[in-house]
Amino acid sequence: SNVPTITLHNGVAMPQLGFGVWQVPDDEAADAVGTALQAGYRSIDTAAIYENEKGTGQAIAASGLPREDLFVTTKLWNREQGYDSTLRAFDASLERLGLDYVDLYLIHWPVPEQDKYVDTWKAFQKIAADGRAKAVGVSNFQPAHLQRLIDETGAVPAVNQIELHPHLQQPLPRAFHADHGIATEAWSPLGQGKDLLKEPTLAAIADKHGKTPAQVVLRWHLQIGNVVIPKSVTPSRIKENIDVFGFELDAGDLERIASLNTDTRLGADPDEMN
Ligand code: NAD
Repeated sequence: SNVPTITLHNGVAMPQLGFGVWQVPDDEAADAVGTALQAGYRSIDTAAIYENEKGTGQAIAASGLPREDLFVTTKLWNREQGYDSTLRAFDASLERLGLDYVDLYLIHWPVPEQDKYVDTWKAFQKIAADGRAKAVGVSNFQPAHLQRLIDETGAVPAVNQIELHPHLQQPLPRAFHADHGIATEAWSPLGQGKDLLKEPTLAAIADKHGKTPAQVVLRWHLQIGNVVIPKSVTPSRIKENIDVFGFELDAGDLERIASLNTDTRLGADPDEMN
């Protein structure tokens, strides 16, 4: 595969582009993930709450690819937070995936209201120490939540997976991540394929390069250093979304995309989500 890797702060290499499977039903996940693996994706992003860890694991087993060539991410769901329940939930995820380790395990949301993410993070340290997750990180954490984890445990998340696309560019979280060696992973990198991809600015840049707006958006993420995990169940789009390594946006393109920021979320506010 021609996908570059980034090096996480603990030395683990993570593909900069992977395949997301949110909203893919379990009985379609094996097909979609199988198509992605055939197209050259080696990183898969699932979560316990997506209820498709089984189908994802089936596709991984059926691919015949060596386990060390794959990068599998799953996430702990909110109601399982807490030290002991995290360890149990992690065992259940591995079991459904049919794996004996994951490459990356993430706390899905901080859920400040239940105030369990510090204890949860301590359980994540045990999972990492046991070698059952090669790296551990978080998702949807705001800088204040990250700072609290660091202050209370001394352990810095390897990754923070947050909503990020040209309409929500997240300058403050990205700066905090850069200061602390945390990789920024963009969820809904294509803005869920809605209004964002209809931006005339993106159409113009796409025409100039002979690419699609989706490819331009993915290229923008890659060039500013984000990890991306676009989702599609359509084979032609699955292939299109990984065909983003043969062209380069210039400084003017990047500037025009930077000007599209409206700070508009598609998903929940991390401080409110419970
Ligand atoms: P996305 O931005 O990847 O958009 C996916 C949608 O865009 C598709 O369903 C399709 O409608 C459209 N699309 C895909 N490829 C296209 C193309 N080439 N041209 C035109 N349209 C195209 O949205 P997403 O699925 O929300 O996010 C990607 C992944 O991020 C998820 O599958 C999941 O793994 C992860 N995620 C994580 C969280 C979290 O809380 N951690 C939340 C949402 C998503």
